[in-house]
Amino acid sequence: MTTTSLLDRLAQRLGHNHVLTDYDLMAPYLNEERGSYASRALAILRPKDTVEVAASVKECAEAGVAIVPQGGNTGLVGGAVSTQNQIILSLSRLNRVRGINPANRAMTVEAGCLLAQIQSAADEQGLLFPLSMASEGSCQIGGNLATNAGGTSVLRYGNARDLVLGLEVVLADGTVWNGLKGLRKDNTGYDLKQLFIGSEGTLGIITAATLKLFAKHHETVTAFLGLASSQAALDLLARLQDASGEQVTAFELMSRNSLEFVTRRIPGTSDPLSKPYPWYVLAEIATSRRDGAMAELMEGELARAIDMGLAMDGTLAVSLAQRQALWKLRESIPEAQKPEGASLKHDISVPVSCIPDFLERAINAATSLIPGIRPCPFGHVGDGNLHFNLSQPKDMSRADFLAARGQMAEAIHDIAASLGGSFSAEHGVGLLKLPDMMRYKQPVERDMMRRLKTALDPKTLLNPGKVVE
Ligand SMILES: Cc1cc2nc3c(=O)[nH]c(=O)nc-3n(C[C@H](O)[C@H](O)[C@H](O)COP(=O)(O)OP(=O)(O)OC[C@H]3O[C@@H](n4cnc5c(N)ncnc54)[C@H](O)[C@@H]3O)c2cc1C
Repeated sequence: MTTTSLLDRLAQRLGHNHVLTDYDLMAPYLNEERGSYASRALAILRPKDTVEVAASVKECAEAGVAIVPQGGNTGLVGGAVSTQNQIILSLSRLNRVRGINPANRAMTVEAGCLLAQIQSAADEQGLLFPLSMASEGSCQIGGNLATNAGGTSVLRYGNARDLVLGLEVVLADGTVWNGLKGLRKDNTGYDLKQLFIGSEGTLGIITAATLKLFAKHHETVTAFLGLASSQAALDLLARLQDASGEQVTAFELMSRNSLEFVTRRIPGTSDPLSKPYPWYVLAEIATSRRDGAMAELMEGELARAIDMGLAMDGTLAVSLAQRQALWKLRESIPEAQKPEGASLKHDISVPVSCIPDFLERAINAATSLIPGIRPCPFGHVGDGNLHFNLSQPKDMSRADFLAARGQMAEAIHDIAASLGGSFSAEHGVGLLKLPDMMRYKQPVERDMMRRLKTALDPKTLLNPGKVVE
């Protein structure tokens, strides 16, 4: 089948408006957030439901044309990027909430639902869908599951994979697997849904998911603390977890540089504390109880932490506006880094107890490779996950700085690996981290992954060239 007849058949199936071939119409699907990849595509498909996804996959499989599934296109590792002879299949029109079952604490949603839309739908039923991240207004649940996204509430609720009861998936030949059972217990062999979660579109196209829901928070207490060391952050986390009965929902670390960049570059932000400190923590405790006990608990713990010298200073948000202002400091860091020049970014994880060791060694390695470099680490420290970002020295050219990208990544990822850590904590592998797969993943692991890929996608038609070599 020629390309033209494939596109004609797809247009008949999906409607001409939903098979985009005009560059201007395709453009929004071709540009990745960080601008690191220039994507091209034969066409963009916009099916409206699972049946149309399955038909599209079948047509493409018969024509031998590869498909790149795409959600909100907020991924950061080149996972949804395509070449000119591939087709991007956007899930955006599969955006219905199929149903919410409060008694089962579960909801079934289509893959193209925005994460924020799912959070609101749960909230309207008096329940909580806890997955949360700065991109939640544009990323889709299908993309979240395909990347096994993390975010700010992993500490309490787990990664995306921990929040799923069932999936509906279109396989590489167009077969639909309906695994939307929604059971809490089902020990009938392999847990197939977990194969697709985190597979970044290389094993199947997720079209719907049944998600776990939780009790809605009625009291949320947010604190911002200045600390002398990252070790103090870990000690403080342990104390807060003990005191609150593991009710800590977020525990985010920020370096002084991160806060300085934000307050310098993001309008309407300011340092909440009167003096500068080397490290900061944004800590949040939340509960479904309504007795106000958490505010009192947090206040007491903060006072004790300051008395013990664990925290140097701190402030509690007493209104929603204050809470949002504290979160803005944390969530604006990547945006604030842009006007500071080029940056090198590393999404690493290590066992939580190794965070201080990692930071010391990685900051030393970065500064000895590029003197004057400005480390700006921040992240989900309660999960052992840091965004070890580095901004260019003020007196260095952008090109010279970026030329060190590979050498720097190797140095930082080597340190993470030596501590038993990972070169990709939550963003995935995509294209960007394929070389790291070769360097750090055991041969036996790569072999098992290749065998799974061959079993489920023998013609390599689903997101080829990503995740597995
Ligand atoms: C400001 C900002 C903040 C972020 N914060 C976080 C964070 O805290 N934690 C975190 O984990 N990530 C974060 N990210 C990264 C990104 O938002 C997540 O990876 C998100 O899960 C991607 O979802 P998406 O819908 O945009 O997927 P896309 O970018 O469209 O796709 C990502 C990958 O999933 C595949 N895919 C997409 N949809 C499907 C589907 N339905 N079926 C099969 N495969 C599919 C694609 O082929 C690609 O490989 C952030 C990004 C930005 C821009």
